[in-house]
Amino acid sequence: LRKSYQVDPDELSLGKELGCGQFGVVLEGFWNGKKVAVKTVREDAMSEEEFKEEAKIMTKLSHPKLVKLYGMCMQRSPMCLIFEFLENGCLTDFLRSKKGSFKPEDLLGMCLDVSEAMDYLESSNFIHRDLAARNCLVSEKLEVKVSDFGMTRPVLDDLYVCSTGSKFAMKWSSPEVINHTKFSSKSDVWSFGVLMWEIYSEGRLPYEYRSNAEVIESLNAGQRLLQPRLCPETVYQLMQWCWKEKPEDRPSFALLLHQLASLADF
Ligand code: ADP
Repeated sequence: LRKSYQVDPDELSLGKELGCGQFGVVLEGFWNGKKVAVKTVREDAMSEEEFKEEAKIMTKLSHPKLVKLYGMCMQRSPMCLIFEFLENGCLTDFLRSKKGSFKPEDLLGMCLDVSEAMDYLESSNFIHRDLAARNCLVSEKLEVKVSDFGMTRPVLDDLYVCSTGSKFAMKWSSPEVINHTKFSSKSDVWSFGVLMWEIYSEGRLPYEYRSNAEVIESLNAGQRLLQPRLCPETVYQLMQWCWKEKPEDRPSFALLLHQLASLADF
């Protein structure tokens, strides 16, 4: 871990609570002349070794559409990660609160932003494993950035096969993840299809009134999420492509980015 990522706790001031994350509270902060988001890690949530490992992954990834990690603070308890601050918070909440005000190009632009980040991750051989609107953040300029790399892992032999007992969000997961916990860039592509659906549904919960078991059953029967009212046919076709049963039949992020960019041109 490069030394430059270590933040001196005396240079970091903490403000109000922004929300509660998986590993601890997220606070507003101020560091190095700018507003930052500080993710604290509860002691029981992660060991120092695991924490360093996660941080190492995040520091290696850098792209304008990924939420930037500025550094970490290990000398003080709780340990914390210091991120770029995104004024408009979590994408799900943003979509719900601004419901009814989005123009078609806004929604397409959000999909495009995420596809850029994911194209970068795919080409860096990283799998996100938990891509969903709740794990994206919205900037002041209304760009969408992908966050939450706590779940990313480097790709080992194309597929990251997870040990049993791993947790994943069922309603965003592809059949091969549900059945065999086989993660790949193509399982991220499936999740991206669900994320596009969330965007065009303005933050609705996918399969809202169905249990996980019912979702699995309907997917096995070949059913998919329905076309949201605001979603043009061309974009729905891309979603359906992301939800092909076989991973190899799904597009890559490089291709999705290209397709979305060409739709945005008109
Ligand atoms: P976790 O993924 O560990 O559950 P989140 O990333 O969802 O935690 O963080 C919880 C909340 O904190 C988010 O819903 C969001 O409102 C806020 N938050 C997290 N990161 C940032 C950030 N970089 N800028 C602004 N707000 C943030």
